[in-house]
Amino acid sequence: MNSFLISKYKDVEPYVPGEQPRDKKYIKLNTNESPYPPSEAVQKAVSESAKSLQLYPDPACRDLRAALAGNLGLKAENVLPTNGSDEVLSLSFMAYAHDEKPAYYPDVTYGFYDVLSGLFGVKATHFALESDFTIDIKKYCGLESGLIVIANPNAPTGIAISLSEIERICKESPDCVVLIDEAYVEFGAESCAPLVTKYPNLIVSRTYSKSMSLAGARLGYAIANSDRIRELETLKYTLNPYSVNRTALAAGAAALDDIDYYRNNCRLVAQTRDMTAEKLKNLGFELTDSKTNFVFCRHKSVPANELSDKLREAGILVRHFTGVRTNDWLRISIGTQEDMLTLTDTLERILNGG
Ligand code: PMP
Repeated sequence: MNSFLISKYKDVEPYVPGEQPRDKKYIKLNTNESPYPPSEAVQKAVSESAKSLQLYPDPACRDLRAALAGNLGLKAENVLPTNGSDEVLSLSFMAYAHDEKPAYYPDVTYGFYDVLSGLFGVKATHFALESDFTIDIKKYCGLESGLIVIANPNAPTGIAISLSEIERICKESPDCVVLIDEAYVEFGAESCAPLVTKYPNLIVSRTYSKSMSLAGARLGYAIANSDRIRELETLKYTLNPYSVNRTALAAGAAALDDIDYYRNNCRLVAQTRDMTAEKLKNLGFELTDSKTNFVFCRHKSVPANELSDKLREAGILVRHFTGVRTNDWLRISIGTQEDMLTLTDTLERILNGG
């Protein structure tokens, strides 16, 4: 094929997002979205924002920044709203890693990290997770320079590390930037955001996509020392100054006023997760200790791809990651209690040969 693409991008491997089907209505347990809609106040704020879409958004995102900072007990200079938390990840890889300053992250983690390493010509150093998929923190201590990236909880394993372990990495690799991706933190792990006032090398990325029911709005944010925020913001202004649109800004601020609604949804999701995990164990599945809005599981005898295909035929989408260490496993997002009952009933039928 004829290509105009310049050579350094010829071998770039794009991220493969989970399927957003259009052929029929599925129970969607494949992309870790919230099963609950945004609150009414958010829906109203979104409609209101439509009235001024002829205007560019505030590129400095001042109102949302102040609201987020207030919520976190930090200053506005410690927060940077972004287009999904993927933008925090992109800006951080761009800012802090290249061919001589490696990015260090687990061999089983969010696939976008490898995509960004490829795009920015970053030397990626993968540290193997232990055989039970836990992270050995020692591997991230004593590193000389570059970018350490850890999803906490990790994806797709769902396993969390503690605040003291993150603190140890920041302390013992002081010349590395430590990026903690907290996309799923609200479902049962502890946020390390308060540590940014103590560790200038720590950046925390958070998202509205999961806990705040706003995956479709594309809104995330970085939390860090003001110097790091300024660095990321400079790069944001070089790439796309208006990356966060008016509707997302309005939705993001309104959601903070309804924080109890969202906290309650997260509690419900966590309860449903634990109930689903018990049922899956009874059906012969092994599970990791997930602190997220998904479970990661494998069946003792039926291959994951077979289960995923049969679930699809039955109208339920889950995620199967090919890859040496994940090939036997399925990642199943947590839906409503009703969705999850349908899932476990359907699995029971499939496993009984139905
Ligand atoms: N981090 C992790 C670990 C994720 O799974 C995702 C969702 N795909 C993201 C970050 C990005 O989420 P978003 O850009 O929607 O905020």
